[in-house]
Amino acid sequence: MKARYKYRIYPNHVQIQKLSQLFGCCRYVWNQSLAHCNQLYADGIKKPSYTDLTKQFITQAKRELLWLKEVASTPLQQSLKDLDQAYKNFFNSCTGKRKGIKVKPPKFKSRKSKQTARFVGANYQINQDKIYLPKVGKIKIVWSRPLASQPTSVTIIRDSANRYFASFVVETCAEHLPKSNNSIGIDLGISTFATLSTGEKIKASLPLKKNLKKLAKFQRKLSRAEVGSKRREKARLKVAKLHAKIKDVRADFLHKLSTKLTHKYDVIVLEDLNVSGMIKNRKLARAISDLGWRQFRTLLEGKAEKYDRDFRVINRWEPTTRKCSCCGFKGGKKDLGVSCGMLRKREWTCLNCGAFHDRDINAAINILNAESVVETVIQPITKVESVIENPVQLSLFNEVAEGQRSIFIGHGAAVRLAVKSKQAAMMCQPTLNLSSNSVCLIDGWESRVVSKSNVGRMSKYRQIPHTIIDWDRLLSRIEEEIVN
Ligand SMILES: [Zn+2]
Repeated sequence: MKARYKYRIYPNHVQIQKLSQLFGCCRYVWNQSLAHCNQLYADGIKKPSYTDLTKQFITQAKRELLWLKEVASTPLQQSLKDLDQAYKNFFNSCTGKRKGIKVKPPKFKSRKSKQTARFVGANYQINQDKIYLPKVGKIKIVWSRPLASQPTSVTIIRDSANRYFASFVVETCAEHLPKSNNSIGIDLGISTFATLSTGEKIKASLPLKKNLKKLAKFQRKLSRAEVGSKRREKARLKVAKLHAKIKDVRADFLHKLSTKLTHKYDVIVLEDLNVSGMIKNRKLARAISDLGWRQFRTLLEGKAEKYDRDFRVINRWEPTTRKCSCCGFKGGKKDLGVSCGMLRKREWTCLNCGAFHDRDINAAINILNAESVVETVIQPITKVESVIENPVQLSLFNEVAEGQRSIFIGHGAAVRLAVKSKQAAMMCQPTLNLSSNSVCLIDGWESRVVSKSNVGRMSKYRQIPHTIIDWDRLLSRIEEEIVN
């Protein structure tokens, strides 16, 4: 199992100069090769291999450009290896060999963003408080924790807040923690970050929300500074530093929580949330990004592997909110549907067995007990876009006028729904039921109504009858959005 260990390094002025030269050369080699590949592609010629690119853009280029010789050559080769890998990922994603979110073709590197350079093999040396890099020198390093084993490579990073890091890749083996025989279901939410099936509620850290005013102030200063001035660079650094701090606070919170959970429980069950679909909604994007749901899932995945725990993700379409966790009766819907005032309530009573539920805890228990486990990543909905005739997007809150919220649902003779208030949000369900010749696909906040005749052609997409849609969950999310 591979793991990354990242440490802060503190280069002196001379070393900063040399590192920036090194970053510049790596960037130059990458950008030149990429431009060359793009040109060949435009001419209809296949992409050259890594060896060909190395010959042309490192060996040959060094004869003409003497400054390329002033830096170590390993990072330059690694830069081209990365380009080769980026192309491979892109091609595999196009042909469907690589699952998950579509990979875009490699992009040009900018002087202004994060800079990296990688050393491999015996190219660098580490000791008690220094790291030696060829043609740069010995840089001070702070070993905040011991390395698990001998690293295979080190990446030197300069982030936009001008901080320097050394990131090592090491081989580690799984740590076996004693079995606790406890399982946990986790319901993620906006107002409460996580609700555990044990009833515990964990508040979100929301570092961006807390720093929003400060950030706005810094950004205002930045936008007013003259382009190219020293003041602008200072203002840019302030913004970048605040962003870095926000990111660190969030990561710290997620790391601590995921470590705690993996130590305490053998089986961890999470819901498969379509985060990238949800953040397409402009009104929700900031709040959801601030939470870090996706990062949380990635961390749990990694830590479950490290500590040999069972981590599961349940199907996106599993009804978790309206189902009673005591008797399995799917009646919460009716209860919630009586009046919209009920929706705001976070508790409800089961009509079948009379059990009293907290909405989130009930959902967390249902997540824990759910049987459908996602095995493969669902193909993104963009894949089938070309197949749908007249695709119509259900855009929630995209068409918001003052005090008026609209939901558009359509297919052929499109059904248009203007939702003026929360009450009317309830109306979208009966309306959908009316159009019996259509199937509704809801993907996060995005939805399409397609005619049944088209569904057969959409073999790549999971076919779901609209009755499975957890309307209460959807509506409670709408409600949450309105309340916040
Ligand atoms: Zn019940």
